[in-house]
Amino acid sequence: MSWFPARAVIDDAAIAANVRSLAAHAPTAQVMAVVKADAYGHGLVPSARAALAGGAAWLGAAQVGEAIELRRAGVVGPRVLTWLYAPGAPLADALAVDLDLSVAAPWALDEVATAARVVGRPARIHLKVDTGLGRNGLTPDQLAGLLPDALRAQAEGAVEIVGVWSHLAFADEPEHPTVRAQEQVFADAVALVESAGAHLEVRHLANSAATLTAPRAHYDLVRPGIAVYGLSPVPQLGSSADFGLVPAMTVEAELATVKPVPAGHGVSYAHQYVTPRDTVLGIVPMGYADGVPRHASGTQDHVGGPVQVGGRRLGVAGRVCMDQVVVDLGPDATEVAGDRVVLFGNGADGGPTAQDWAQAAGTISYEIVTRLGARVPRSHINSEGQQ
Ligand SMILES: *Cc1c(COP(=O)(O)O)cnc(C)c1O
Repeated sequence: MSWFPARAVIDDAAIAANVRSLAAHAPTAQVMAVVKADAYGHGLVPSARAALAGGAAWLGAAQVGEAIELRRAGVVGPRVLTWLYAPGAPLADALAVDLDLSVAAPWALDEVATAARVVGRPARIHLKVDTGLGRNGLTPDQLAGLLPDALRAQAEGAVEIVGVWSHLAFADEPEHPTVRAQEQVFADAVALVESAGAHLEVRHLANSAATLTAPRAHYDLVRPGIAVYGLSPVPQLGSSADFGLVPAMTVEAELATVKPVPAGHGVSYAHQYVTPRDTVLGIVPMGYADGVPRHASGTQDHVGGPVQVGGRRLGVAGRVCMDQVVVDLGPDATEVAGDRVVLFGNGADGGPTAQDWAQAAGTISYEIVTRLGARVPRSHINSEGQQ
């Protein structure tokens, strides 16, 4: 879409600085910046380049297609790991562009080895262990069963076992007993693979929360995602600023209409909000199609998701619609159509953040940024000096 009265502005310098901060939190490890889901909504390729400028040595993408897209865009320096695919995935294409592949199931080892024989070079693989999350990954029993096959494929030159990795279920509750338990299962899995003769290049377990709060889990490589974009993975324990992070995305729009209405005027679908006095309404041309969560609608008794207008912090009045939301600007409003409003940004000037929207909608900040709609244009600022 060539013209749209709203946009997401991504501060690439903030992304780079966040990676530097994360590296300082994990001084013994390298940083893999996780750029799945279009870099959490921030734009895959420019965000990846910003993370590399900040010193990330690795990039991680869940879907094979995303990782291939990075390479095709010319991101050729760093190692790139991809970990989520189903039978029939284009693994030969992935290997041809030098991606590292996770192996999380016995069928995956077979398909990766087959693809490597087609491409004619060994596949660098990371064995994914389910240490307790109960999601993707080899159970410890499956790992023990698969290991002889993996070593045989390595001896044949089809694969190279470069990593063992896992993911935590309660990283956002660092004291939760499962964190220790998963660390132990992980240590056992690493020992099993190493004692079988594999020379691991990287062992990795930590997402953003563990990078910031669980140094024991850092190993050789940490895999932060949300924190790269400056959002706290553990808002109950600390804000972005508390962890030295700066939210990179600002979402802003121009008011489409500003108009006076009398007291008692219903606002938006089902009149969930009725003006308590003569007032001025502002129409913001973004709605749930653009990722504004409908759960952050306002009612008569409480304002919805926060909107900053002319230095004032207001909120959504009534229902969030598909393409627009309404803000009660108050009787003395001086705004006019075309004035800028901010839905969320870095919070530096007391303005709203993605975390504030998460709270208003009863969700996590991850969902606020990753669900930003495809039709909202992204622009990147402060990207100088990047490769
Ligand atoms: C998404 C993801 C991460 C990053 O998680 P954050 O909580 O955003 O830091 C790390 N590892 C795996 C396996 C993931 O799927």
